[in-house]
Amino acid sequence: MDHLPEFNTVALERERCKGCYLCIKACPNELFLVDKNPNQAGHYPVLMENAQYCLNCMRCVDICPDQALTPPVSAKLNWQGVVFWGSLKWHQRQNKQGKP
Ligand code: SF4
Ligand code: SF4
Repeated sequence: MDHLPEFNTVALERERCKGCYLCIKACPNELFLVDKNPNQAGHYPVLMENAQYCLNCMRCVDICPDQALTPPVSAKLNWQGVVFWGSLKWHQRQNKQGKP
């Protein structure tokens, strides 16, 4: 194999992003961060971290007003993302209850 396989998930076109950050709020797995580098239009776009944990739920694609996010060719539910989501929710519950 001469390259790593790409994750079958949404693609971001950073030049289209206007930095509204609706996708950050919409993503159940909190995969979006704000890029420290502006795009050519001077907006600070998002970037996706840990794309392997994307659920392929398409909430970000649906909410983006600028069509900066496009769905993968086949948007099947990603089980690795589902496991991550379960773990994230568990940790959030623990933190709310003040437990370690
Ligand atoms: S919703 Fe679209 S325009 Fe808004 S920050 Fe996300 S990618 Fe950028
Ligand atoms: S498809 Fe769902 S899980 Fe994946 S980045 Fe978008 S909102 Fe997050």
